[in-house]
Amino acid sequence: MRVRGLSVEFRTRRGPVPSVRGVDLDVARGELVALLGESGSGKSVTVRSIMGLDADNARSSADEMRLGDTDLLALSDDERRRLRGHRMSMVFQDALSALNPVLSVGDQIGDLIRAHTDTSRRAARARAVELLEMVGIPGASRRVGDYPHQFSGGMRQRILIGMAIALEPELLLADEPTTALDVTVQAQILELLDRLRRELDMAVLLITHDLGVVSEVADRVAVMYAGRIVERGSGDDLLARPAHPYTEALLTSVPQAEGLGRDLVTIPGSPPNPERVPPGCAFHPRCSWAVEDCRKTRPALIEIRRGRDSACHRSQEVVGAGNE
Ligand code: SF4
Ligand code: MG
Repeated sequence: MRVRGLSVEFRTRRGPVPSVRGVDLDVARGELVALLGESGSGKSVTVRSIMGLDADNARSSADEMRLGDTDLLALSDDERRRLRGHRMSMVFQDALSALNPVLSVGDQIGDLIRAHTDTSRRAARARAVELLEMVGIPGASRRVGDYPHQFSGGMRQRILIGMAIALEPELLLADEPTTALDVTVQAQILELLDRLRRELDMAVLLITHDLGVVSEVADRVAVMYAGRIVERGSGDDLLARPAHPYTEALLTSVPQAEGLGRDLVTIPGSPPNPERVPPGCAFHPRCSWAVEDCRKTRPALIEIRRGRDSACHRSQEVVGAGNE
């Protein structure tokens, strides 16, 4: 997947409010990219827009949006809809509300397969069992007729992932798929995503605010703040040597021992209201590195060394300080 210059604004009574401001993203086949940042940074809005599921009051634009050879911007709404679930699919945070309570999981998976492909009921059922096995539902052939409420939260999330991969999409978008689950189950779901992207050679874009997740499974990380990507690089390297003060703050705000799995809400201050994003660098009111220029000039996202981009006037010093 390749996205260039994605912007999304919301129509409000007080006028248009920008939420995403020129985001570039690439996810290659078999690669897992994590999109990191506090809530309100525009992560979910970005992913929904890529999926073609903008909110009714949202208007998005992009310079480029491609899935493989397909120009997503050139597709009609109908063509886009057909792509969803088939070539690209999405897993949400809340598996319970995403599943239909009055249909067995086998019927739901079967209906999905039959909606997109010419498959008999019987074959779709067999495929449903196979998918449930793939996502680690014990006794899949026995449980295929069970209803969503008969499964635990973690199992329901597995089922949802099974539906998302039913048609072997090239791209899977996962919006905080583990947030509602307890820590051990979270880890299992991530292992599952990690395994599936390898087995299916699928691109995965994972939204999370869990740094533990990032270090475990992400090949690359993009950090968002106030609707823009402020830093990106390879997973381990970015976490070990952040070059942007916001990334650094995210890392130091997490207590080392049991911090994994926690929300990143402990940076002093709060993310800006999208209607009143500070001038210059949007992070300056909360940044311990801020200097006069930061209030006036917005730093561009530039390559500060091979494989690492950062949008900060003082990136070199930030990296340097971390190495001392
Ligand atoms: Fe902090 Fe200035 Fe860098 Fe923004 S540009 S992150 S305010 S040092
Ligand atoms: Mg969100």
